[in-house]
Amino acid sequence: MANKPTPKKSAVTETTAAETSKTTKKRAAKKAAGAKAKAAAGTATAAPTKATPAPPAPETTAKPLLPRIRAGEETAALRPMPLVHAFTRAEPSTTVTAPPESMAQPAPARKAKPTPKPKPAPAPAAEPSAKAPEQPTTSRDRGPEPEPTPEDRPDSGYQPEPEPHPEPQHEPPPPSAYHEHRPSLFIVQITPEMAPVAKVGGLADVVFGLSRELAIRGNHVEIILPKYDTLRYDHIYELHEVYRDLWVPWYEGAVHCTVYFGFVHDRKCFFIEPHSHDNFFNRGGIYGFADDVFRYAFFSRAAMEFLWKAGKHPDIIHCHDWQTALVPVFLYEFYQQLGMTHPRVCLTIHNYKHQGVTGAELLRATGLHQPERFFDRLRMGDNTHKNALNLLKAGVVYSNFITTVSPRYAFETKDGGQGFGLEPTLHTHHMKYGGVVNGIDYDVWNPEVDHHLPVPYGVDNIDAKYDNKRALRHRLMLADNEKPIVAFIGRLDPQKGLDLVRHAIFYSLEHGAQFVLLGSSPDQQINNDFWGLKHMLNDSPDCHLEIGFDEDLSHLIYAGADIMLVPSQFEPCGLTQLIALRYGTIPVVRTVGGLADTVFDKDFSDRPLHERNGYRFDNYDPPGLESALGRAIDCYYQFPEHFRELMKNAMRSDYSWNHPGQDYLNIYDFIRNR
Ligand code: ADP
Repeated sequence: MANKPTPKKSAVTETTAAETSKTTKKRAAKKAAGAKAKAAAGTATAAPTKATPAPPAPETTAKPLLPRIRAGEETAALRPMPLVHAFTRAEPSTTVTAPPESMAQPAPARKAKPTPKPKPAPAPAAEPSAKAPEQPTTSRDRGPEPEPTPEDRPDSGYQPEPEPHPEPQHEPPPPSAYHEHRPSLFIVQITPEMAPVAKVGGLADVVFGLSRELAIRGNHVEIILPKYDTLRYDHIYELHEVYRDLWVPWYEGAVHCTVYFGFVHDRKCFFIEPHSHDNFFNRGGIYGFADDVFRYAFFSRAAMEFLWKAGKHPDIIHCHDWQTALVPVFLYEFYQQLGMTHPRVCLTIHNYKHQGVTGAELLRATGLHQPERFFDRLRMGDNTHKNALNLLKAGVVYSNFITTVSPRYAFETKDGGQGFGLEPTLHTHHMKYGGVVNGIDYDVWNPEVDHHLPVPYGVDNIDAKYDNKRALRHRLMLADNEKPIVAFIGRLDPQKGLDLVRHAIFYSLEHGAQFVLLGSSPDQQINNDFWGLKHMLNDSPDCHLEIGFDEDLSHLIYAGADIMLVPSQFEPCGLTQLIALRYGTIPVVRTVGGLADTVFDKDFSDRPLHERNGYRFDNYDPPGLESALGRAIDCYYQFPEHFRELMKNAMRSDYSWNHPGQDYLNIYDFIRNR
């Protein structure tokens, strides 16, 4: 057996040890005995090289890659956008979904009109043959336009008074670092989640990280969230009321709301609190309620009503998943009629599995009183269920651009059978569909400065990672031996490949590895299954399953583990493998979605050696999993220098928001200029 790094000294503090779960403590004595017996001697392998990780360099030379398209030229000039990228191999450090070169060419030579004005993009751009809804615009944009026909008027029975309010004055002006290169945009993100105040999954991290990147690049970014009772208020600074009486149309009346403002680690956030006996956001949790569709339909309407009443006219409204997919519908069906013609909408779909499918009641609640119009398959009518409405589909139809979170997933959802019924809709709207790989926030996920870690480390002092490995073992009462630690962190959802996770636990234990799991599920049955497994393995000194959500522990696992397992059935992007890469923890992943776009197999990739950063398997079955996990464990033991090189490759790759931030700005420019 080859040498393997021996931790130098336990860095665990009293506090860390005290956090250990009760269950674990019960078996502490047994594990401690095992630990002593198995403590391995060995020396650290070759010293790290001098290479430094690529910092997320500011984009001082950033330029919009897309041509400015003048009025009258848009039809000829537009080409299918980033989806093209789905078929090309992305560079590991530049998974940019910018338009291909051909996109950056000037529009076909056609004389521009003397005073070209941007034209608002058509909203529900259904099939070419379909009648698209009317697009009222400002006279500033297009000059006088005919009144919308009665058919196109909103039929909510409610016409809010235009009551523009000044925006809160306490916000600093946007930074100007990039002003000389591109105009600053006013971007509003409307979202059901944002880390760390309201986090269920990766969507929360994306909103947090992307917002920061956009702000760094000189844009003014605001975020609108529900005011959940479960918000992490300890992360919200200067929370105060900014709009006391917001009346949001709902059924035949209106619901009274209050809007709060606060900073979440410098992000400017508005929180909407409805005062109604529906008690939409005081449920002790974020999702999982029978009326979720109505809760988020209400939130979407409330967010739009707030923008309107507060006199905010963002350049871009960026919404996320089915929960806020009605935002563009409300914009184009209601608020454009009232004069809000400026914003363009980008919808990011983080997961097609959840689409917000519901019945006609939604139309009554939201004031979209034209069933024949909205049940139309070209608008909101579900592709599978005849009498159902599909919110995510509505978002696809009405948004100016739709992104999903990796080029490969964009391809899989449109053409690979992963669209959960939305494939025909994506084909119809392919011109405005593409994939952008998520980034991770390097302020939060950076082993060099991560305050959750007892010992910070980077690619230049990679040995310190093993102090964190020791700390992890100490905290979870695992034996301190020569074995690699295989970890899984994630929602315990069938999507994540739970049967393969179970298989991997036993496989790892049988093949000389330890296993750590951190995960939870809203599904009690799944939780119970994993509790059963935990009890079964309770006496093993090499295994710890932590059922629950624990952000702090997740940092220590990313740092302390050697191998991160992500065996998903499907994976839109996946953040765990990106974070693992940053922490030099080698990902073992299935070749799907964003995993395939970001992890390159040590043995079988056609990339140069220095770009290979993990292990992949194709088939969703135990032999498939073993083919990759087995190679990773073997490499750890038999070729530690190779394993170490892989760790360095992983840590050097740039999966910050640097590139995705630019990609999103290109998309914003694209839809603003249409
Ligand atoms: P998804 O969005 O499908 O849940 P992602 O991989 O995109 O999956 O994002 C998961 C994020 O949530 C990661 O940041 C991961 O570390 C975190 N996470 C998932 N489960 C847990 C948990 N039980 N405790 C702490 N963090 C978790």
